[in-house]
Amino acid sequence: MHILEGEKAMFNNQLHQEWLEHIDDYINGQIELKNLFQTTESHAEKVIDYVDEQSSFYREHLRNKSGSSSQFKVLDGVPFTTKEDLRFAGTSVCSLPFDKIAMYYETTGTTGTPTPCPRSSIDVETSGAFVKKAMNDVYQARFGTMNALTAIMGPSELYAFGDTYGEICRKLGIPFVRLWPESPRVGLDKAAHLITNLGVRSLICSPAVALALARFYTSIGVAPRETSVDQIFVLGELCTPEMLQNIAHLWGANCSHGLYGSQEAHAVATGCSQGNLHFCETNYLAEILPIPGLEGIGELCLTMLVPGAKPLIRFRTGDLASFSPATNCSCGSHSRCLKVFGRVDDIITIAERQMLPASIESAVLGAVDNVLGYQVAVSTADNGTETIEVSVIATIEPGSIAQIQKKMTDYFAIPVKLNVTEQLDARTETGAYVSWKHARIIDNRKSS
Ligand SMILES: [Zn+2]
Repeated sequence: MHILEGEKAMFNNQLHQEWLEHIDDYINGQIELKNLFQTTESHAEKVIDYVDEQSSFYREHLRNKSGSSSQFKVLDGVPFTTKEDLRFAGTSVCSLPFDKIAMYYETTGTTGTPTPCPRSSIDVETSGAFVKKAMNDVYQARFGTMNALTAIMGPSELYAFGDTYGEICRKLGIPFVRLWPESPRVGLDKAAHLITNLGVRSLICSPAVALALARFYTSIGVAPRETSVDQIFVLGELCTPEMLQNIAHLWGANCSHGLYGSQEAHAVATGCSQGNLHFCETNYLAEILPIPGLEGIGELCLTMLVPGAKPLIRFRTGDLASFSPATNCSCGSHSRCLKVFGRVDDIITIAERQMLPASIESAVLGAVDNVLGYQVAVSTADNGTETIEVSVIATIEPGSIAQIQKKMTDYFAIPVKLNVTEQLDARTETGAYVSWKHARIIDNRKSS
């Protein structure tokens, strides 16, 4: 028994090493993307065998259901895994007992029962390798050094975010402070004062937190541009190119994506200095599931290839995404660019047109500069036509309001009223926890 356990541990260590070397070879350019796909399919085959053996949920799931077709032979007919499946399965989806994991996390549970998200060391390191490379590149491009004090502004507790960045900063020698303004022991006031007093140069936070801090500084008479912050990494909620630009402009800083991912699926793509997200090619086999009425954009479906604590097979992320070739970005990465457009559930029909969360955000931020917050209310007028009221916290010259309204009216093809305000519904802060739609859209239409 002991010998068997020992042999298994040795095999696992070897597998772990092989994975890290494989990722290193890919990141260093020794494996080209076109040659990687063959390996990813064979990894998919192995991981399906692995979950079939290790996870009681998958043992049933893979046998009892026949799934839809796939462009990848290895996934053809394999059933999808949905978030509903995960809530129902609980810990039975896990492929390792909890005594053998590295860390235990959960989803936030704001949109349903929390699901367990344990990570083993192979998960942490294979996912972290891409985040480390991305951070290193952006710090080199922005600061020319790792010596830039960084504020990690997100929860740790049951969520991986703070741990992931803490570990990467420590490995790269980036000095950091954990400074989450939403923590009851920190708050916006203390976070803002520490940023100033310590001379923090880089922030890692959600777009909502970047905006909330900018509002706070403005309220105490400090222009965010005058702070020591030169770089902001955003993550955790939808962030369009217009929002990156808006935050960059407000803060007089470079603003780029930190990573796109989730508690369940880890770091799926990482941001580059050019403002794009690049897919972590070695760790997933990705499918884009078509959605009626949408061209070229679909639901991102991931098969997690790393044999860790909880690999998911054909996991429907619920996120709208599209891929474009790596050559579309000038940063030098050879991984495909991943564009994320919000959640499938957050698609909204306005004036009989399907609108993606990203297209609404882009329309608002494309029309108004230096936005410290926004919310969109859709209503039905007495005569039955739909109307939109866009509320923004921003400094707008009274003379340009009509022009902004016209620009948005042309875009939405229905009457748009611009409401400049000093405060918005507290819901606008919750995008990272509940949903973009809950945070940004008020739907007053009678029929919906
Ligand atoms: Zn890039």
